[in-house]
Amino acid sequence: MADKFQSIKGFYDILPGQTALWRHLEDVASEVLAQYGYRYIHLPIVEPTALYVRGVGEHTDIVEKEMYSWTDALNGDKLTLRPEGTAGCVRAVVEHSLTYNGPQRLWYMGPMFRHENVQKGRQRQFHQIGAEAFGYDGPDVDAELMIMLARLWKALGITDVELQINTIGDASERAAYRQTLIAYFEQHAELLDEDAKRRLHANPLRILDSKNPRMQAMIEAAPKLFDVLGAESRAHYDGLCALLDAAGVPYTLNTRLVRGLDYYNRSVFEWVTTKLGAQGTIAAGGRYDSLVETLGGKPTTACGFGMGMERVFLLMQEYGVQASDAPDVYLVNAGEQAQAQAPILAERLRDAGMAVAVHAGGGSFKSQMKKADGSGARFAVILGEDEARAGTAVIKPLRDGGEQRSVAQAELAAALMD
Ligand code: ATP
Ligand code: MG
Repeated sequence: MADKFQSIKGFYDILPGQTALWRHLEDVASEVLAQYGYRYIHLPIVEPTALYVRGVGEHTDIVEKEMYSWTDALNGDKLTLRPEGTAGCVRAVVEHSLTYNGPQRLWYMGPMFRHENVQKGRQRQFHQIGAEAFGYDGPDVDAELMIMLARLWKALGITDVELQINTIGDASERAAYRQTLIAYFEQHAELLDEDAKRRLHANPLRILDSKNPRMQAMIEAAPKLFDVLGAESRAHYDGLCALLDAAGVPYTLNTRLVRGLDYYNRSVFEWVTTKLGAQGTIAAGGRYDSLVETLGGKPTTACGFGMGMERVFLLMQEYGVQASDAPDVYLVNAGEQAQAQAPILAERLRDAGMAVAVHAGGGSFKSQMKKADGSGARFAVILGEDEARAGTAVIKPLRDGGEQRSVAQAELAAALMD
């Protein structure tokens, strides 16, 4: 036998048996997003590398070490498999002047690619659902995005997720704070690990988010940006809190939450669970008022999030959420005439809106009935030689009890539906 192939490390198949629940996640999410007036945008998976270098930021994990980038052999273009969705979405908004007629609420869904250490909840190809709102200045849209996610968790049957929020101020506040922070970390240089030393001048805020236990006490005691916010940033934050309070969505202030990407300002947030080990953040986002301009558009405020679908999927399984892709009917058929009638009868049932799996490949009634049971269908419809000749079929309820009965084929759809 020839050698078999295997999927690449960090790239997974989602198999039948899992896909019903996966599709359920997609369906519920798209319903909830539509409830808030977000419109779907379908974006490419490959973008120019420079979009991410400029959009996500040079000194981020993503750009420093996680991107799948290459040079196009035909024309020398430098290209990257999208590691996240926001930069590409902004690119599309700018390219097509989508905010020309006013603000836009958009969402997208699909695979993202990051070359990172594979572990539970951390793949190299993973999927995100992202939402981005462009042209809304106030904290109302920040709150809306968080409240929308609260509704989504509820609709998915997920409880016990915590909303953590923070504000990282505006560029000028952050610039001043950076200096304060660099000075503080320099005073504690002996405690800094390699990562922190590397980030000290490039991206000192990222040090706040370090998980290194040796640095925790020192980080805890660091000056907080929250304490030096200007009046406008403070008002934005207070406005957000008031809206979350009014909506009855609980949250905690986490002043160490800075997010890994350079483009954020003011509101940042994460939805966190303790049920997935170290990979506990299931959705994360914030405001990024300067990114549209950075990527060549007119100054346009923006706020959004990315939700990790695999992590939410794991959590749904953890909570025992079920979804079924079983057909309504499994059509058992044996004998020449019955086999000829089965596909025609199945089409009629499908016309009436039912999902019908027709048994194929012959076999005894007994073995076909086993398949019918295994399919998860609510009913077996049995078509043997006698039924075929008489123009009837036998309905056998497989799930909710009830007697088996014979009906005319013409009545079958109606009989199955009452
Ligand atoms: P982390 O701190 O876990 O690396 P991140 O800050 O890199 O997360 P974001 O860029 O904010 O993640 O992406 C938004 C969400 O996408 C995350 O909260 C997470 O749920 C999911 N996510 C990110 N990277 C991965 C991955 N490699 N595999 C699976 N899900 C991921
Ligand atoms: Mg990451």
